[in-house]
Amino acid sequence: MLPFRKNIAEMTGYVPGFQPDEAGWIKVNTNENPYPPSPKVVEAIIAELAGGGEKLRKYPDAGSKVARRVVAELYGVDPSWVIMANGSDELLNNLIRAFADAGDEIGYVHPSYSYYATLAEIQGAKVRTFGLTDDFRIANFPELYEGKIFFLTSPNAPLGFGFDNEYIIELAERCAGILVVDEAYVDFTDVSAMELVKKYKNIVVTRTFSKSYSLAGMRLGLAVARPEVIVALDKIRDHYHLDRLALVAATAALQDQDYLQSTVARICETRDWLSAELRKLGYQVNPSQTNYIFAEPPDSDGKRIYDALFARKILVRYFSDPLLAHGIRISIGTREEMEKTLTVLVESG
Ligand SMILES: *Cc1c(COP(=O)(O)O)cnc(C)c1O
Repeated sequence: MLPFRKNIAEMTGYVPGFQPDEAGWIKVNTNENPYPPSPKVVEAIIAELAGGGEKLRKYPDAGSKVARRVVAELYGVDPSWVIMANGSDELLNNLIRAFADAGDEIGYVHPSYSYYATLAEIQGAKVRTFGLTDDFRIANFPELYEGKIFFLTSPNAPLGFGFDNEYIIELAERCAGILVVDEAYVDFTDVSAMELVKKYKNIVVTRTFSKSYSLAGMRLGLAVARPEVIVALDKIRDHYHLDRLALVAATAALQDQDYLQSTVARICETRDWLSAELRKLGYQVNPSQTNYIFAEPPDSDGKRIYDALFARKILVRYFSDPLLAHGIRISIGTREEMEKTLTVLVESG
């Protein structure tokens, strides 16, 4: 037997959403953006490759200084409050490594992003989940939550609703440890906890470039937090965690907010149109503040709908979890992709 740590030997590992290799699929299962990234991102990457890739010989800037400065300006904080990341998953991982020792507890809402549990398992930390009430509050949240970190996915995945800031403040005050607000989808709504970071010592906000910025393939994320948190995260990360292409892509994407707003607006328009059409078919659709919808067919059989779409090469997300098996999650694609999806749903009843 090789000497694996006990928790590594025993864990199963996270299973990411299916990525089909062949063409011809409408892939709306992992909340990717159907539109390409800003043309300025592509220009920046090509420029970085100039001279036959001459620049690739050298290590990238280990401190991501340019990108951090742009983020700081965008959110009105000092650059010492910002860290860049190789996907926001890297930040979630390093936050656990920074705050939760083996045997310590972390918490999150179920249903939300179960990768928090996988990351905690790697660290040997314990996991506690909290359910949701009918009015989308956290059920039985203690007066003082003593876990080291509480992860709040806001807006929620896969249900699509957002928590308001008043409630996030209340949670921060009731957390003895850190409250990480995972804002992976926040660009699709108006409410963000970003401003709260300045006022509430234990709030950390994480963002990703994978959804709204159409850069899932570049692996980019960021966090805004107090400088002491950023210093800790800087100690833990790999020093060259972002390659040169990712760094210039991040900066160019952040600097093209007009492009971001225009693709976000198109996605929200398609989302609201599809939600209304599905409701006409008798579906229950949660009002969504994200780039996906959670939709329940009239017979509450999510698997049947998943299979019907799969047979037509349309890939959505079905969760066998009893809390979610009554519906499917559809990432919002282009209007044309959603029209094709709707046609199959009409036929499937
Ligand atoms: C997509 C997603 C992430 C991961 O983002 P990456 O930057 O691609 O690592 C994190 N949290 C939630 C809730 C997500 O949906």
